[in-house]
Amino acid sequence: MNTTAKNVLDALAHSDFPYRQLLEMMPAALMIFANDEAIFVNAAACDLLEAEAPDEVLGLPVAALVHPLERGVVEARMRHLRAGASMNAPIDLKIITRRGQLRRILSSSMRVVLGETPLIVIIATDDTKRHESEDRLKESEENFQRLFESTQDVYYRTDAQGVVLKVAPAVRRVLGYEPEEIVGRPAEAYYPHPSERDALKEALRTYGHVQDFEGRMVRRDGVIIDISISSYALYSPEGEFLGVEGIYRDVSDRKNLERELRRLATTDMLTGIANRRAFLERATESLRRAGRYDKDLVLFIVDLDHFKAINDRHGHLAGDAVLKRFVEAASPELRETDLFGRLGGEEFGVLLHEVRRQEAEHVAERLGERARALRFSGEDGDEYGITVSIGATQNHHDDRGIERLLVRADMALYAAKAAGRDRTWWAPF
Ligand code: GH3
Ligand code: MG
Ligand code: MG
Repeated sequence: MNTTAKNVLDALAHSDFPYRQLLEMMPAALMIFANDEAIFVNAAACDLLEAEAPDEVLGLPVAALVHPLERGVVEARMRHLRAGASMNAPIDLKIITRRGQLRRILSSSMRVVLGETPLIVIIATDDTKRHESEDRLKESEENFQRLFESTQDVYYRTDAQGVVLKVAPAVRRVLGYEPEEIVGRPAEAYYPHPSERDALKEALRTYGHVQDFEGRMVRRDGVIIDISISSYALYSPEGEFLGVEGIYRDVSDRKNLERELRRLATTDMLTGIANRRAFLERATESLRRAGRYDKDLVLFIVDLDHFKAINDRHGHLAGDAVLKRFVEAASPELRETDLFGRLGGEEFGVLLHEVRRQEAEHVAERLGERARALRFSGEDGDEYGITVSIGATQNHHDDRGIERLLVRADMALYAAKAAGRDRTWWAPF
């Protein structure tokens, strides 16, 4: 150890006031360097450096105590002091302890001249814990940012008034807007109608969150897409509503597939009208509503006459073409609200809503005319036509299910056939 510095310490040790003891007991780590050798370290510094005794540290240069990557910074600070500066502002540093642990410290240094050799005094406090929690926070923020930038889902956040505060870049792909174009505008603006966000807001108010809530949004190019949204209502610790945070995704492909599957499951493949199951389901619903509101319904069963003969003579494919042509010809006679379905084979169901018997009779008449007007030519050059028989019935106030009407219409159909076909027969009750 250099003599002048030692003298200073000796002077401290022999002074009336126990300066050295005071330095030893300081709660902050204190290190004194002379000519870049540690000449004094207090107990807190030994703790910080994980040195069992000061001897492990005494004689070492400052640079030997810090993390290798910090040496340049520390040496620059020492040069600054040696060049005459009195003080270096506190700085965050990484050190490697004598036991090989990485620690984060807050360190300041100053130049003190008491004798011939200037001393450098370093005061440091352990800052590892704060850094650890900051690092964790930073890491989770970075993770969030990565997710925010890269996810296929659109993260969004609104304020209490529903104005968008933040929206992820994925919104470009989903809605075709730049995030900056959306921030600051009401979230409702991207719905086909503002009221379509009301159901979501209502659910958020009631449950605080929603999961896979289905809705629709409008893309920049005007196309309406199906979305699925999961969101939370945000509240301050005082319970004040702050806004909504969540994600949404474009589920148009899935919804279109679902719609297509539903269409396939409810459509008769040959004619494109409702199949038996779909017709009966919708007719059941119509009957229930008609019963509740005391409305008149009429059910027809329309059956092609001698259809078997067409198949036998012209072949099954010709029979199929006849069924398709009949449906095409009959459809214009029905209103948008009426139901038309294929009950099976060459038998069709027609359900007319809110009609009196007389109107229904006209509809049946015109269906018969349409059938009669169709002309087909067979491969043998033969021209042929078709006729239909119709069994008709009205709803009764005590009809519990659509089966009751089907039975009555079927009986009427049988009577129409027996009476010579190509006609409509009404169930007698
Ligand atoms: P009726 O005047 O008494 O109704 O006589 P019909 O020959 O029309 O009645 P029937 O019930 O004896 O025969 C119906 C025929 O319809 C029998 C069946 O081969 C045929 N058929 C059922 N489904 C189809 C189909 O999808 N395509 C074709 N081409 N024929 C069908
Ligand atoms: Mg038939
Ligand atoms: Mg039949």
